[in-house]
Amino acid sequence: MPELPEVETTVRELRKKVRGRTFIDVWTDSRKQIKRPEEFDRFKEEIKGRTIEDIQRKGKNILFFLSGKKVLLVHQKLTGHLLVGKWKFHKDQWVPPPGPLSDNVNTYIHLMFILNDGVMMALSDLRKFAKVELWDAKEISDLPSLKNLGPDPLSKKFTFEKFKGCLQKVKKGKIKLILMNQTVISGIGNIYSDEILWKAKINPFKDISELSEKDLKKIYESMKTILKKAVEVGGESISDFRKTDGKKGLFDSFRKVYRRENKPCFRCKTLIIRKKIGGRSTYFCPKCQPL
Ligand SMILES: [Zn+2]
Repeated sequence: MPELPEVETTVRELRKKVRGRTFIDVWTDSRKQIKRPEEFDRFKEEIKGRTIEDIQRKGKNILFFLSGKKVLLVHQKLTGHLLVGKWKFHKDQWVPPPGPLSDNVNTYIHLMFILNDGVMMALSDLRKFAKVELWDAKEISDLPSLKNLGPDPLSKKFTFEKFKGCLQKVKKGKIKLILMNQTVISGIGNIYSDEILWKAKINPFKDISELSEKDLKKIYESMKTILKKAVEVGGESISDFRKTDGKKGLFDSFRKVYRRENKPCFRCKTLIIRKKIGGRSTYFCPKCQPL
């Protein structure tokens, strides 16, 4: 699933490519992904003619602020990613231009926004779990899915004291699951929680009540460093995520532990192990990250 760095990469690129553009038309073959309004024809009528005034990220959500005080909310979920380019419609299919947009992972197009001057914004989504909703701007601040989000770890306001305060509120729980809990801190998922804990040399199963001030400092600093780096290189494309031009993000060459089961730890050469935690897999070095 795209996490903070991937969604941030998408938002930064969208600001350059589609901000100021106007929706001319919308096409879909997967109406269930449009959750609001539920009737696709209404969604289409509501969005046509509106201009994208700004694009922001909240946790893993993308918010398009539209003219006439509407907000288009996109959550890419497991395999969704937004692409920008020019496609041709042929025999009920969107045909991409040659190049990265024609890579297999970018061809599961179930929603297409046609913008002015022939520019298009597509949602490619193999599993079709992504969610698209249109809201009145004044409703957005009350949406539970946004209102209950924890602070953004890349925000300047997210100081070490603030981080400690977030953990104090929950008191107990395994650190890996706490880092992934969107109501505690927003934006971190399976990949970056593993990477952060490996860098900080903290076992993912450790309960936060057992962590020292020094441990917390290491986690906080690793979080800032890794997320910043991942945004800088355009995110991780080990799974379906691609940048808006269809190309891969380059975090893979910085990945130290996620999906490296039975491979030697980059620090101590001990083999990385994988264990289940809260229904997810976690990868860690049993020597550098003892319990
Ligand atoms: Zn190690």
